[in-house]
Amino acid sequence: MPYHIRMADTYHTTALPSYDEALSKVLARVAVLDEASVPLGGALGRVLCQDIVADRDQPPFDRSAMDGYAVRVGELAADQQQPIVATIPAGGVADPGCDLTAGVARIATGAAVPGAYDAVIPVEQANESSGGQCVSFSTADVKSGACIHRHGADARAGQVLIPAGTLLGAPHIGIAAAVGAVMLTVKHRPSVSLITTGDEVRPPATATNDLEAQHIRNSNGPMLDALLSGLGTELMDHVHVVDDPDATRAAAQEALTKSDLVVTVGGVSAGRRDYLPSVWEALGLETIVKGVAIQPGKPVLIAQPVDNCEKLVIGLPGNPVSVLATAHLFVWPVVRAMLGLSPALPWRRVWLSHEVKPNPRREAFRPARLIGDTRDQVEMIHWQGSGDLVHTSTSSGFLRIPAQEQTLQPGSQARFLPMIGGDL
Ligand code: AMP
Ligand code: MG
Repeated sequence: MPYHIRMADTYHTTALPSYDEALSKVLARVAVLDEASVPLGGALGRVLCQDIVADRDQPPFDRSAMDGYAVRVGELAADQQQPIVATIPAGGVADPGCDLTAGVARIATGAAVPGAYDAVIPVEQANESSGGQCVSFSTADVKSGACIHRHGADARAGQVLIPAGTLLGAPHIGIAAAVGAVMLTVKHRPSVSLITTGDEVRPPATATNDLEAQHIRNSNGPMLDALLSGLGTELMDHVHVVDDPDATRAAAQEALTKSDLVVTVGGVSAGRRDYLPSVWEALGLETIVKGVAIQPGKPVLIAQPVDNCEKLVIGLPGNPVSVLATAHLFVWPVVRAMLGLSPALPWRRVWLSHEVKPNPRREAFRPARLIGDTRDQVEMIHWQGSGDLVHTSTSSGFLRIPAQEQTLQPGSQARFLPMIGGDL
């Protein structure tokens, strides 16, 4: 009886781990980094290793939320003249000699409302008269507590305002300053060395006339620099090596000495001049992943020194879209894990706007963009394959397409990974 024999690629790729399997193998090898102390001004984007605790109640006093007049609501009548007995600026107090119960007080936003008053009426609803000695209000319908940000309403002294493990954004910096935490314990930034490879690859600054037709500029290096700095890493070095085993070995050895994470680009496939796999082996590293059943990005190589499990090497294939995809799929979760953050990436549930034909043998991560008013439909971009960064730049992330024979119909659910720093 006749039967089909699939291409050799089938046997090869079915033996490769899936993305999920490869990622969990790698994450099992990631060491969480140590802590460092940094001044508040340098803490944005760092991972906090201490709880930030309120030293006082927040707000620390009954705070006027508006420029206006502090009043007692029980004594208000619309359009009735009230004597102004005090003026209270932000950071100041009423004159100690004045009798606050004899009238209302002019008060600034952020000033402490004296206990004699129970509401603030904004200036927009007030009319001063008698040369500023009296005021009337357009309404007497004022609730007790109006325009007062009550003492302790946000937090009580001793309360944790920002828990350890938080990735610090601008509001966290403001809160830390508000409670006097000027030095913060945070995770070290992962130090990263980047190695790009290839005889054909020239520095981005090479003049057009100095490029032979078969040369290209190094687009992956600066693209990865940008991605890595967006992830909160500290780039130690970026070297480019030609396809030569000795040069590759020297660069690899130095990068490993300098950094927690070495990211390489190109030179990991099955080509005769792809030296990185043999170089890492010769340097005594253990291969953790060599090839993953994904498209693009199949040749990914991940290795670790046998005698130093605090370091990791991630080898990405050279095609720019493969670099972009595998940096998202592997480098991003690894960096998060090094920082002690959850490695889970922000996959979104989306619906396909058109038919999608999967690769039956490899899970695909295709550049795509979110569309529709609610941005929950996804369409793939037209592209020329994993060398085509030009069309990929119009995408906003990656559509995850399972390895299966059946075509996915429009309206089917799928998962979508937003691009780091992308515009959704
Ligand atoms: P490789 O994985 O080394 O076989 O490279 C695959 C493809 O990616 C080749 O077409 C390379 O020219 C290209 N490539 C490799 N490195 C870079 C780079 N740094 N910038 C732009 N393209 C690259
Ligand atoms: Mg190459």
